[in-house]
Amino acid sequence: MLMALMLTLGALLVTPTAIGQQFRVLVHFRQPSRVLPAVPVPDAGGPYAFEQTQPGSKDPVTYSPCKPIEYVVNPTGGPRDALTFISAAVATISRASGLAFHDDGITDDTDFEHRNADDPVLIGFVKPGAIKGMSVESGHIGLGGSTAYDVGFGHRMYRTGMVALRTDWFSTPDVSRAEKQAVVMHELGHVVGLDHVKDPHELMDAENTGVTTLGPGDREGLALLGRGSCR
Ligand SMILES: [Zn+2]
Repeated sequence: MLMALMLTLGALLVTPTAIGQQFRVLVHFRQPSRVLPAVPVPDAGGPYAFEQTQPGSKDPVTYSPCKPIEYVVNPTGGPRDALTFISAAVATISRASGLAFHDDGITDDTDFEHRNADDPVLIGFVKPGAIKGMSVESGHIGLGGSTAYDVGFGHRMYRTGMVALRTDWFSTPDVSRAEKQAVVMHELGHVVGLDHVKDPHELMDAENTGVTTLGPGDREGLALLGRGSCR
């Protein structure tokens, strides 16, 4: 009897009938699935650190791998090729983390410091001193981060964030596109949950060391950050 029931359910799943369709929808709701496959975690030995961890645990706070991270770009104040290197940076971080991003288009939003949980991640350009942490004296050429929310049972997850890039540095003529893209990748590393490390071979070194590609520790940390809960 049990076997017969299982066979019936199996048939429903593969038969394109209205009932089968409903069943698939139900299955989908019960087990949300990843947008992109998980990235195998490399064990190359480079350092990485998480921006935030779950209370009482070493597990990182992450975005959900089961929905895309929505983002908008405000290109005002940026160089002409801003959209090109921003989308290339997003694609690199997505590939390394297994987290999907969805481009919600261009915005005129400049409120980097107040993101609500439903707001997309804001990527854009600011003048030095326009927001906290971006003074000329600080030497920062970019800022990036996300806001974590309690999603139940004390579990925290990122829902939105921002990347602010300094107009003057990004408009310097002798800065290459690869360098600009690397700074956006560093800030997006913060957005998805990576903290700084002290290693000039890693993009998450706090100094701009001239490295323009992800290091082994960056890749390991990003792969782990892409394996969070689906909530
Ligand atoms: Zn940083």
